[in-house]
Amino acid sequence: MSAMADKDPVLFLDAVERRYHQGESILEILGGAELAVWPGQSVALIGPSGAGKSTLLHIAGLLEHPDAGEVYVDGIPTSNLSDGERTKIRRTEIGFIYQFHHLLPEFSALENVMLPQMIRGLSRQEARRRSAELLSYLGLEERLQHRPAELSGGEQQRVAIARAVANAPRVLLADEPTGNLDPRTSEHVFGTLGQLVHASRLAAIIATHNMDLAQRMDRRVTIREGMLVELS
Ligand code: ADP
Repeated sequence: MSAMADKDPVLFLDAVERRYHQGESILEILGGAELAVWPGQSVALIGPSGAGKSTLLHIAGLLEHPDAGEVYVDGIPTSNLSDGERTKIRRTEIGFIYQFHHLLPEFSALENVMLPQMIRGLSRQEARRRSAELLSYLGLEERLQHRPAELSGGEQQRVAIARAVANAPRVLLADEPTGNLDPRTSEHVFGTLGQLVHASRLAAIIATHNMDLAQRMDRRVTIREGMLVELS
């Protein structure tokens, strides 16, 4: 059972600070950033290259520690957890999608989605059933046995989306997921992502520099002087 009800955010970044040292100078990326994301909500994180989008996603995904502030996942403060505990939350609660799909080339679409579930302890049969269902939901029912190289860019990215949510995470983080795709395919992938976020009650942050795609998400935020600013 979830620790919190739907009225509470699944992901909450509270006064998060992150700066990098560059020789003598300090580059402040986040200076007290706040962001709350609720179940079933997609948030586009917009900004040009170098704005700090990846940094924010890495912190939200517990891949990186903030210099100050706290990241709450399902109400649980994560900064004082051990590496093992953070890894466990990352594996069970958080799904990642990257610009490049990072699918395993020697495995089929179906197997790529089955693997994380089997690693988690599901039987082959159950993993296969769930993977086929998920890929079909994403419009890939005719592509289950295809290897990544036999799929189009948009199809590869939809398999990567299926893999990211295969273990039913509560948070989905995507870093320029369509940065490598043509505009029409990007539209399609964003549409699919938005539907999945609503259907699975995920809390999603999707980094993009494309304002048109961002309009398809429920909310839009950008990083301005180290703070997260809500756009209309
Ligand atoms: P975005 O994803 O919006 O392109 P990033 O979060 O990757 O932005 O980077 C934000 C800024 O922080 C960039 O100027 C980048 O060069 C710098 N940066 C990122 N990671 C490091 C690091 N490990 N050390 C030093 N500077 C970094």
